[in-house]
Amino acid sequence: MKIAEKTVAQFHYVLKDEAGDEIESSHGGDPMAYLHGANNTLVGLENALAGKEAGDKFSVTLQPEEAYGERQEDMNQRIPVKHLQGAQKWAPGMTAVVQTEQGQRQVTVVKVGKFMVTVDINPPLAGKVLTFDVEVVDVREASEEEVQHGHAHGVGGHHH
Ligand code: ZN
Repeated sequence: MKIAEKTVAQFHYVLKDEAGDEIESSHGGDPMAYLHGANNTLVGLENALAGKEAGDKFSVTLQPEEAYGERQEDMNQRIPVKHLQGAQKWAPGMTAVVQTEQGQRQVTVVKVGKFMVTVDINPPLAGKVLTFDVEVVDVREASEEEVQHGHAHGVGGHHH
């Protein structure tokens, strides 16, 4: 079965930056599962996955506009330190998670004060050229429930 609209694909990936250094990898854990055609994953990655089947391996390099977008200037915000999640102590350059009205968002710590912290709310991978080494593990038809919810269920997907 080939990856197309209303299929759920599982894949392993290694994500590398422009220098070829590994940023993150799914190997050693569950593969990533996504519902194709539902904006579950980066648009450039989804385009490269279309038509692939289980066992296919490929690499795709995404420009920032196909991935996390260009970095925006003046995206610094001051927020209470206690709103940062992911570590006990903070230092400039660290990545933190904050809850916003739109859900979780990753930010980069710029300056740390006693009670307030300055964060850059650009996505940490904004402005970067990213390469994904992908291995497709499984492709199946999406269930009606998955199509309705707009995301994959089960291993590597959403758990309710
Ligand atoms: Zn669901």
